Amino acid sequence: MNNATHNQFLPLPSDAALQIGWPTLNHFLLDAPEKFFARTRVNADYGKPGWTRDCGKRFHRGCDIAPVKVTATGRTTRVIFTNCATNNDFESEEPTFVPHDDVFCVFDGRVVEVVDNENASDFGRHVVIEHSWPRGGGKFFTLYAHLSEISVTGSSVMSGQRIGKMGQTSRSADARNWMAIAPHLHFEVRDAEGRAYEPVEFLRRYVSLR
Ligand SMILES: [Zn+2]
Repeated sequence: MNNATHNQFLPLPSDAALQIGWPTLNHFLLDAPEKFFARTRVNADYGKPGWTRDCGKRFHRGCDIAPVKVTATGRTTRVIFTNCATNNDFESEEPTFVPHDDVFCVFDGRVVEVVDNENASDFGRHVVIEHSWPRGGGKFFTLYAHLSEISVTGSSVMSGQRIGKMGQTSRSADARNWMAIAPHLHFEVRDAEGRAYEPVEFLRRYVSLR
């Protein structure tokens, strides 16, 4: 995949018939977005999609949904923050947390990828589900990453079905360290070619409020 498709979002198809559920019990996106996204003490935009990482130098294809059930470990870990105004790095000891939220499939579909090996990719333990747009019939995919546990094995899944538990898995030690201070579900939405839709627009437009 080339950089052009990595570093921008596809426009969402309009399909008024699509009604999705929330991927976790965190439903704060519309009313209190500051509680919806994972954030760090220095980067309030950490969990948002787009150019939100490394002072806007690294593109984030997904959105990182903060847990509503979380416990402090009582331990800290060392991270290197960047002051984006001065471009200076500084070290900090930050408190660490463990998330406990269940993760749910957002729409009826078919499990097409279950990666139980947490060291296989930067997504850690993750699940990909294939869906069809209700009107157009084209395929789209949702990805649920960094899970601690996967509870689906294959075949069909329903909207709202529990597919696992939020975790902090990744083959990247650096990513695991950031997730320790800002635990989250990394949620992505893709088309059939693997290009990403803006996941927050997707949730805002299609999530069912009933
Ligand atoms: Zn992410």
